[in-house]
Amino acid sequence: MKTDCKGLSFTELEAFLISIGEPKYRAGQIFRWLYRGVYDFADMTDLSLPLREKLQQVATITQLVPEKIQISKQDGTRKYLFGLDDGNAIESVFLRYHHGNSVCISSQAGCRMGCSFCASAFGGLCRNLTAAEMIDQVVAIEKDTGERVSNVVIMGTGEPFDNYENLSRFLELIHDSRGLGLSYRSITVSTCGIIPKIEVFARDFPTVNLAISLHAPNDEIRDQLMPINKKYPIADLLAACKAHTELTNRRITFEYALIDGINDREEHAKALAKLLAGMLCHVNLIPLNKVEKPASPEADQPISTNPADLPAPAGHLDQPAPAARSSAEAFRKILESRGINATLRREMGDDIDAACGQLRLRNLKT
Ligand code: SAH
Repeated sequence: MKTDCKGLSFTELEAFLISIGEPKYRAGQIFRWLYRGVYDFADMTDLSLPLREKLQQVATITQLVPEKIQISKQDGTRKYLFGLDDGNAIESVFLRYHHGNSVCISSQAGCRMGCSFCASAFGGLCRNLTAAEMIDQVVAIEKDTGERVSNVVIMGTGEPFDNYENLSRFLELIHDSRGLGLSYRSITVSTCGIIPKIEVFARDFPTVNLAISLHAPNDEIRDQLMPINKKYPIADLLAACKAHTELTNRRITFEYALIDGINDREEHAKALAKLLAGMLCHVNLIPLNKVEKPASPEADQPISTNPADLPAPAGHLDQPAPAARSSAEAFRKILESRGINATLRREMGDDIDAACGQLRLRNLKT
């Protein structure tokens, strides 16, 4: 089997070169090409011809091929549908902010966490992405746009802590200054709350930002929205967050999608403020993006449609609706008045279904 150079760390690439009888200093040259978006050894023009030919015999380079690119007319957000080698497809989003370009990447094809309001959950989990597939989302987008990416958020399809090994390899790879050299501080990993991995992550990557999808001020509501809450309820989750902060001294972001009548009322805001009092945190309020369940999710042929080892959501929210702008604003004010830092996020790219929870939706429908 050929070796995929894209997923190798610098040291592993050196070892691979030695194993095929080449000097290890070639790793620097190859690494540079890989992260510049070169996918054919023949194009690595500072390598000798015999070496290029040898590499073609024994190695490959993972390549994500953009099958569709949608560009938002509102704000220039670009959504990519990438085809994978095995016929699966994933999505990534490129967002242009004042402070630089950001890419939102997927960590799995599908997701088995089963959150009732999220489109990514509808087809179940197909499979984990490799570190190479994660990093190539960034490389392919830099190549397509001709622009540097300065921030990466792992907030696309999938639960990154359900694919921890590949996630951590990806983080090490993207941070390597001989390749893309992204600072850990400009990367954010978002989780639905897999507590054991929060603990490991704090030790492994103390400077990478952590975001928690909270979405509810109590277990009763969170149980309905997110099956993971039955396994890791709010009190335990927040204890893990506090331990994370103690170890890393970093501010955690809590994501909170406002759903009309479910979690967006005054009493919910007050309860949330009480819950988060004294924590080094920030709340990101997002009026729910509407997602319609596709008629036949089977079309996606998932390996598992149920969140394995997770109980089903207690109450199903058939058609949850976004909170009104006025109640979202009121919610934010209550948090602020109680000393909790909160922003009401401006949604980008919702005309192309690129906003939170909408990834893969169109794809499942077609
Ligand atoms: N599985 C991880 C990574 C996904 S991040 C996690 O749960 O954190 C994507 C974010 O968008 C999560 O906070 C998710 O809860 C949120 N989201 C999902 N569907 C949404 C919707 N319809 N409207 C607003 N936010 C949504």
